[in-house]
Amino acid sequence: MGKNIPGDWVNELKKCERLYPGFSDAVPFIKGVYDAADKYLKANPVKPVAVFDVEEAEEKARSGETINLNPNIDTGEAVGLLKALSGAIVKANPGLKETAKELNRKSEHFLENSPPEIGKADLIEFRDSLIKEAVLEKDLATFLFSFLLSSFYRQQLNSISEVLRTDLWEGGNCPLCGEEPHYGMLTPEDGAKQLECWLCGTEWLHTRIKCPFCDNEDHEKLGYFTADDSEICRVNYCQSCCQYYKVFDARKFHADGKIVLAIHNLATLAYDLLARKEGFTPGSRLEWVNDNELEKSDRQN
Ligand SMILES: [Zn+2]
Ligand SMILES: [Zn+2]
Repeated sequence: MGKNIPGDWVNELKKCERLYPGFSDAVPFIKGVYDAADKYLKANPVKPVAVFDVEEAEEKARSGETINLNPNIDTGEAVGLLKALSGAIVKANPGLKETAKELNRKSEHFLENSPPEIGKADLIEFRDSLIKEAVLEKDLATFLFSFLLSSFYRQQLNSISEVLRTDLWEGGNCPLCGEEPHYGMLTPEDGAKQLECWLCGTEWLHTRIKCPFCDNEDHEKLGYFTADDSEICRVNYCQSCCQYYKVFDARKFHADGKIVLAIHNLATLAYDLLARKEGFTPGSRLEWVNDNELEKSDRQN
């Protein structure tokens, strides 16, 4: 098994239902989306990126430079998958019927007005326009588009990520695609901090007392908090750049084989809200919290 194969998400969902109280309600929704993507990608396989210079990659890692590999995505396939996901969210939540209809309409429009291949930035721009036009709420937009992008990236880059010398990398961002992380874990073996790229799935070890976003190593400005008497999910924050990311302590739960951290992330979005309430923003720039949730909690305080 490769280290970046999405893994056994069905079992991870079950595990996370046990680990994180309150997550069960969201499970059918997430399961529907994962199922739809599996089906779509099986019918429309994405070609892996073929050309890759291993020596050049090692050279770059040694000099602290990310490879910045950001492959183009077929626009028709991206919109096809988006529509499949949109179908899945209505099935799981019929209340989203109008949302899905409007999303499909905008997606068709996007397809008609885009070149045959697009990059990550184009899809992020499309996502932001959907938020701005109130087609999607921030959290749903983040979920759908991070899932969409990572589905393509993982298929395209998995074979490279597997042979990448991540041990040469000391940076805080992804050595392969350059993206900033949103989560990582303390490994079950020895509690080392291992970050994972939410986009391409590459994993790399990172100095435990160091901010991945601004490289701050002043332990007085770095910290973490937990919540609900659970020590599994930590919100690591940096008071220097005021950003956060989440770290899951895999020593605290039984883990065998590949841990699907993307699901642990979805199971702990309440922690993102807590981090925002403390004044920290996500270093990944993935917004999992809606503005009205922040306002609501302001009023309650
Ligand atoms: Zn990456
Ligand atoms: Zn920082």
